[in-house]
Amino acid sequence: MTHPVAQQWFHRRSFSDGVTMLWEPHAHPSTRCNIWHIAGRDRDLLFDTGMGVMPLAPEIAKLSGRPVLCFGSHSHFDHVGGHHEFPERLMHAAEAEIMARPDRDNMIIEGWVRTDTFDALPYRDFAPERYTVQAAPITRPVDDGDVIDLGDRVFEVLHLPGHSPGSCGVLERATGLFFSGDVILDGKLLDDLYHSVPEDFVESMERIRELPVTTVHAGHHKSFGRDRMCEIAEDYIKGRRRAGCPAEHGS
Ligand SMILES: [Zn+2]
Repeated sequence: MTHPVAQQWFHRRSFSDGVTMLWEPHAHPSTRCNIWHIAGRDRDLLFDTGMGVMPLAPEIAKLSGRPVLCFGSHSHFDHVGGHHEFPERLMHAAEAEIMARPDRDNMIIEGWVRTDTFDALPYRDFAPERYTVQAAPITRPVDDGDVIDLGDRVFEVLHLPGHSPGSCGVLERATGLFFSGDVILDGKLLDDLYHSVPEDFVESMERIRELPVTTVHAGHHKSFGRDRMCEIAEDYIKGRRRAGCPAEHGS
């Protein structure tokens, strides 16, 4: 099967509060990460960067000329592919080794990126079976409670392990905006990857349901409000806590 070459790789949509979402419409929804750009007075926050198969920096430059702090929610290929294009890279240290030495296994590419992952190609010679992510070592390790200051707005880093050891979200308490990565999303939560820890996932969910959130801008699928956030968190906690019940998925 030969796919056509995409005319335009990234699409974008504006939300309130200076938030813009970019995405890669020709990638399958499970690998189509939401890329979030948040405008600040002095600098902008870029939360995740997609697969890295086409340059993202020129798309971000169209949004503003300010310096960009590039945050990584976690080290899976669909979230950090474009990180190497941005000089300031913030991420939890538990993902440092993978970001410095990415391969098809540690980034979960193997088995996830295939010909049928796409309905159009980024460029003519693109070969899914050879796809890798460029190394993009963390330049500013972050941990729980750290503050990211954009000049007129601040985001708090929340370390929420479970999906991966260094998974982090960022919360703007002034607006209640929560950028969650793959920790909570309105779709299947993955807790059976090689470095997932379901017990940590439960603890992260218990923490999330107490957060003063108005809107969750997640790593995949659509954004949702606090009620839906609590419902997803409760469902996960209940499913994992059922006595004698092994990991259940897709329910
Ligand atoms: Zn992930």
